[in-house]
Amino acid sequence: MAVVNMTEVLARQILKDPELLKLLPCHCDRCLDDVLAMALNHLPPRYAATDTGQLYVQVEYLRPQLRSDILRELAQAALWVSSHPHHQSVEGAGGDAPSAKGEGGSGA
Ligand SMILES: [Zn+2]
Repeated sequence: MAVVNMTEVLARQILKDPELLKLLPCHCDRCLDDVLAMALNHLPPRYAATDTGQLYVQVEYLRPQLRSDILRELAQAALWVSSHPHHQSVEGAGGDAPSAKGEGGSGA
């Protein structure tokens, strides 16, 4: 048995929705994590004790009730992150190397 936050499980699934990703110009892990964290901060957690087999049953059961709420928060978070990305357009606010994360290809 394990305790999982069903809100987080659903949010991670909904975060892959193409309609939602349209709102976000950058789909890197950093931006997706920002969106997920921001949305989860605005949503009540729903913990469930479950084993892995039951998890998906409960997710499907809860989906219609929670999906609209989660989608709304994710959409708002995506819009915010798209206008406040952490890894670019931070002029003089810290100077994170924009390409610190290896993207492959042009590595020397
Ligand atoms: Zn990004």
